[in-house]
Amino acid sequence: MRFGVPQMTERIIPIAEARYPTRPPVIPADAAPASGLLLDTRGRRLHDLRLSVTDRCNFRCTYCMPKSVFGTDYAFLPQTSLLSFEELTRIARIFVAHGVEKIRLTGGEPLLRRGIETLIGMLAELRTPQGVPVDLTLTTNATLLARKAKALRKAGLHRITVSLDAIDDAIFRQMNDVDFPVADVLEGIDAAAAEGLLPVKVNMVVRRGVNDSQILPMAKHFRGTGHILRFIEFMDVGASNGWKMDEVLPSGDVIQRINAVFPLAPIDPNYGGEVAERWRYQDGAGEVGVISSVTRPFCAECTRARVSTEGRLYTCLFATEGHDLRTLLRGNYSDDQISAAIANLWNQRSDRYSEIRSDATAGLRRIEMSYIGG
Ligand code: SAM
Ligand code: SF4
Ligand code: SF4
Repeated sequence: MRFGVPQMTERIIPIAEARYPTRPPVIPADAAPASGLLLDTRGRRLHDLRLSVTDRCNFRCTYCMPKSVFGTDYAFLPQTSLLSFEELTRIARIFVAHGVEKIRLTGGEPLLRRGIETLIGMLAELRTPQGVPVDLTLTTNATLLARKAKALRKAGLHRITVSLDAIDDAIFRQMNDVDFPVADVLEGIDAAAAEGLLPVKVNMVVRRGVNDSQILPMAKHFRGTGHILRFIEFMDVGASNGWKMDEVLPSGDVIQRINAVFPLAPIDPNYGGEVAERWRYQDGAGEVGVISSVTRPFCAECTRARVSTEGRLYTCLFATEGHDLRTLLRGNYSDDQISAAIANLWNQRSDRYSEIRSDATAGLRRIEMSYIGG
C-alpha cells in the first residue's frame, strides 16, 4: 500500500518557494529498514550528500548569480523557509543510514549562514552504520574564511574547498562582480591551511575568453603549496548564465597548456567514482585536477544527492523538479517514513543529464546553482 503526503492547499506559498516545481514524495508503507546500501536503476549507490544551507551570496559571479537576474530586488528565501539545523541534521542522519559517507555544505555562500559552526558540530557527531565519522567538508568563496577557519575546524570540519577563478586581481574582481580582491581569498586559504583543514582544494571554473588566460598563472601560484588546484569546465547549470558550448574550454586543453610548461603525469583516482581526474607535476611540486563535466561526463558513477536550502531533494544537478522533504520533516512523519521515501526516490533514479546534453537541453528551465549548491 502507498500513501501520499497531504497537499498544502491552505498554505500561502512565498513566491521564492514557488519558483521551482516540486512534489511531495511518496512514502511506501512496506519499506525495509535502511541497510547502508541504496542503489538506483543504473546500479549507482547513494554515497555523497550536498546540503545547501543558504541561497544568498555576497558575490555575483557572472556565471552563477549575474546581477541582471540576482539584483537588489531579487526575492531570496525567507528565514522560515530554510531548513533549521535540527532539520538538516535529522535529514543527514537518515541519509547516512542509507550509506552516505561524505557530506558537503554549500549554497549560495555557506559561511553566510549564521551559526554554521553549530551545524558543523551537530553533523560531526554523525556515524556511519560501521561507526565511522562522516567526511565533512564545505565549499566557499572564502570571503569570511580568514575570520572563521579556527571555529570551523574546532567544530569538526575536516577539509575545505575554496573557489577562485583568477589570480589576477582585475580579472577576479570582474568575475565576482562585487570588486572583491584576490588577496583576501588567499588570506582565507592560508588561515584554513594553518588550522589543518587539509588538503585545501581550490576550484577554478574556466570560461574560454573570460579567464582561460589564468590557467598557467593559477598553476604557477599553487604549485608547491600543497593545495590542490582543480579546473572545472563551465557548465550549463541554471537558466541565467547564458551558457554557450563555445565558452567551454575542454579539460584536455587545460592539461595540454600546463603540461607544455610544467610537465604532468596522470595519477590514479583516490577512490572509484572520483569526479576529478588527477595529474601530478613531474618535478614533485604537487598535483592538479580537472573536472570534465561537459566533455567527459561521469554520470555512470554519479553517487550524489543534493538537498536544497528549503529541503528539496534533487537527484541530479540538472534536475527540473525537486522532492519536498521539508513537508515530511515538518509533518507528523517518523524517521522510518522519511527514510522509506528517500529510498524509494533513489531506487527510481535514472538521471544522466551530462550524457545526453545538447544545444536543445541547454535551454531547459532548471534550478540555479546558487539554490542547489555546486
Ligand atoms: N559560494 C560557494 C563557492 O563559490 O564556493 C559555494 C557555492 S558555488 C554554487 C559552488 C561551486 O559551483 C563553485 O566552485 C562555483 O565556481 C561552481 N559553479 C557555479 N556555477 C558554475 C557553472 N556554471 N559551471 C561550473 N561550475 C559552477
Ligand atoms: Fe556565490 Fe559561489 Fe555562485 Fe560565486 S559561485 S555567485 S560565490 S554561490
Ligand atoms: Fe550526476 Fe546529473 Fe551530473 Fe550526471 S548530470 S554527473 S547524473 S549530477
